[in-house]
Amino acid sequence: MDKVIRALIEGGDVSLTVIQNTQMVQTAANTHFLTNLGIATLGRILTAVTYLSACLKDESGQVSVTFKGNGEGGDICVSGNYDLSIRGAIDNPYVYLPPKPNGEEDVEGAIGRSGSMTVVRDDGYSTPFVGTCELKTGDVGDEFARYFALSEQLPTAFFLVTIPDDENCVYSGGIIVQPMPGAREESVERVTDLLSKTDLRDKLTAMDAEEVVKKVFGAESYTVRNPLYRCTCSREYLRDILRSFGEAELRDILAKEKRICVHCHFCNTDYAFYEEDVDEMFGKRKETWESNDSNSTEKNC
Ligand SMILES: [Zn+2]
Repeated sequence: MDKVIRALIEGGDVSLTVIQNTQMVQTAANTHFLTNLGIATLGRILTAVTYLSACLKDESGQVSVTFKGNGEGGDICVSGNYDLSIRGAIDNPYVYLPPKPNGEEDVEGAIGRSGSMTVVRDDGYSTPFVGTCELKTGDVGDEFARYFALSEQLPTAFFLVTIPDDENCVYSGGIIVQPMPGAREESVERVTDLLSKTDLRDKLTAMDAEEVVKKVFGAESYTVRNPLYRCTCSREYLRDILRSFGEAELRDILAKEKRICVHCHFCNTDYAFYEEDVDEMFGKRKETWESNDSNSTEKNC
């Protein structure tokens, strides 16, 4: 089962989050038919947004991150809720680039080294916070670290690993550390040293996340939560959005197309709305609508 583990280490000086989300990324791979590069790219962003979601304070809180880079993957959007329901989509799920000389997927090439990254965070009780950063390297961890430094004024280190093979996710996870206010410099240095150790990736992929928290970082107490790839769309939710377009607009589409199709790009689900749905949206029961319109039978699909 996927896990988000949070602990205070170094005597409370440093906040540690260890994420293991292989199943979440595998669901994304299955939902979008992702290539290995698509898995490596979307997987890392899903991990980072899992962290942002775990930081939400209010039960109704949600966060969305959109990358608009000049890379081969096109736009990438990932959203998460307080309950750790996470979902994402990439414009080009079939993105392919030759692997880098070290054998790793060219995630930077998929995202792009210029463009923007926008974070919309709704804490549930005030106007959503919107922060935008320019992309510099296309490295997911670097871009999120820069966002936290510039927009939230919080130094944050992201160590993200997603390993695809044969269009499946073999492993996905990450480590995120943040010094607490007034943290001692030597505590922060010790943790930064641990993050730069060359065998950290091997430990992360070989051990259970709880073992990493205990054995690598020496945490004695911690909290565990279970994130999930889950879309929050529903027929009712989309009906509300459609209603906001206004009746005339919807009747116009119905007259031309016979039905209104809505596609949810997060879970790849198609919804169709028909004349009777639009009648219902605007409080006209079908019988009433028909009795008021002598041509109605011709309009039925
Ligand atoms: Zn959906």
